[in-house]
Amino acid sequence: MIPLSAPDILESEIEAVVEVLRCTRLSLGSRMEEFEHALATYVGVAHAIAVSSGTGGLHLCIRALGIGEGEEVIVPSFTFIAAANVVRYERAIPVFVDIDPATLNMDPEKIEAAVTPRTKAILVVHTFGCPAEMPAILDIARRYHLMVIEDACEAIGAEYRGRKVGSFGDAACFAFYPNKQITTGEGGMIVTRDPHLARRMRALRNQGRYESDDWFQHEELGYNYRISEINCALGIEQLKRIDSILHRREAVARAYTNLLSANAELILPQMEVPHRRMSWFVYVVRLCERFTQAQRDAVLQELTAQGIGCGRYFAPIHLQPSYAAWRDSARLPITELHAARTVALPFFNRLEKYEIEHVCLALSMALKKVRGV
Ligand SMILES: *Cc1c(COP(=O)(O)O)cnc(C)c1O
Repeated sequence: MIPLSAPDILESEIEAVVEVLRCTRLSLGSRMEEFEHALATYVGVAHAIAVSSGTGGLHLCIRALGIGEGEEVIVPSFTFIAAANVVRYERAIPVFVDIDPATLNMDPEKIEAAVTPRTKAILVVHTFGCPAEMPAILDIARRYHLMVIEDACEAIGAEYRGRKVGSFGDAACFAFYPNKQITTGEGGMIVTRDPHLARRMRALRNQGRYESDDWFQHEELGYNYRISEINCALGIEQLKRIDSILHRREAVARAYTNLLSANAELILPQMEVPHRRMSWFVYVVRLCERFTQAQRDAVLQELTAQGIGCGRYFAPIHLQPSYAAWRDSARLPITELHAARTVALPFFNRLEKYEIEHVCLALSMALKKVRGV
């Protein structure tokens, strides 16, 4: 059995977590402050606000930036559903934009074409850890007076021209679910340059309490999006070795690419994209256009039957039952074409060379079987 993803947690990290349980403070303590400070320094922004999930963090971005009923936010459909859901939490409207097939990120030209008088923000996703086309997107935002929220949940450590993702927008979010590059079990982090926004987000994550307030003073409608000291202790330790984690993941991606590049039926993820440093989140291959969606599904079934974890990253958001109202109006041919042919292969820090070889062999056999040769 080879899983699709697996967390990488050291004995010393388990120790750090257990240590918290010997203290009296289990929430809103020194671990959270240390984790926030370390992540802000790593990304190169002034403020970081730790929260209970990436989704919670994105929701606070929408809320704290004042995006509300009937206002439009431009988002990709080829991504994780949380990116669009958080817009709907505030009764704002996600407007889906198609992707560039080379990077799988939103196509800046299509972003500009989607701007209307109701557009308030662009929610940029750095898909699979590949930085979005930030100069072009920031230029559109400037010309149309739009806010930019970066969903960097898949891209911690990725860089555009040497600058880390998360430092470009009005606010950005990272996530630490167990399949991400670093994990806290559950958890997320918002980063922003704006001290007022940061102060408000800290209050919103904690039931609307501002720092000067007593515990039963609630200035505005807030949430419980706090993260425990237990999670933060793990996050601090994981972040300490982020560089080696990202190198290791890149090496796994390179090993896959070396073994699969001779297969003309596959479109592989780009190892190098101009001006960008990838932060490898997943390794997703696409079957060429000759394959149907049903054949792709058969490939997934075949791999699963052999104990190889795999998945369809991503099923487009606008085709989900919870987005039925968007389904017919969305024109997203590239998203639909490519999403129907993706196969995410096992991908995690400790994936061994022999396992990668085994997966590649199983994949080529599955492709042959599905084509009936
Ligand atoms: C993982 C992820 C999130 C947030 O996930 P949580 O499970 O809420 O931490 C948001 N957006 C994208 C694109 C993601 O991949």
